[in-house]
Amino acid sequence: MNEENKKLFDKEIVELEQLKGEERGVDIKYLVECVIRKEGEDGLKELKIELAEKYDFFLPDLNKIKDVEWISEVIPHIFLIASIRFFGWSEEDIYQMGKGAVSYSRTIKMFVKYFASIKQTIQRAANSWNEYYTEGTMSMTSFDKEKKEAILELRDFKTHPLVCVYISGVIAKILELVTAEKGSRVEEVRCVFKGDDHHAFRLIW
Ligand SMILES: [Zn+2]
Repeated sequence: MNEENKKLFDKEIVELEQLKGEERGVDIKYLVECVIRKEGEDGLKELKIELAEKYDFFLPDLNKIKDVEWISEVIPHIFLIASIRFFGWSEEDIYQMGKGAVSYSRTIKMFVKYFASIKQTIQRAANSWNEYYTEGTMSMTSFDKEKKEAILELRDFKTHPLVCVYISGVIAKILELVTAEKGSRVEEVRCVFKGDDHHAFRLIW
């Protein structure tokens, strides 16, 4: 970790340790796999050593965690932000990781195939938020078939601004799968880290 990122992370880890919510065990497995894919086994090893020696943070034994098991969101959040700071990943990297998470998850892929219309699928995706996170609620607040635009709002969820980028990527992949539009994209137009009282994601396809 370079000095600048280290300073950032020193503060971030203190805040991330306070998180109260839970998420599924599969998330941390996916994040570890991302590190291996991008940085190799050696990269993962170096990151683990730094986290253990400087931050007293240890990854749990992933073989003992079931995909659907609820675990504290402290673990995947610290690991994600640490990886970003340690390897100097860009926002585009994080967005792409969010997209990759959809392909990694069997359950998300399933409902994308199941529902007929774009509107139903996006709505279902938003409403299923609590199947993945115990904190926060997500809902679709507008859908414009003509303009090919929708808005998803996320409330009562405040972890880290880069997690918003990751979530944008997750939504973008679902949107891409359901619309089959390569040019579809997601941008966060409101954010609790920018003074708004909720997050809002604009979907365009
Ligand atoms: Zn946000």
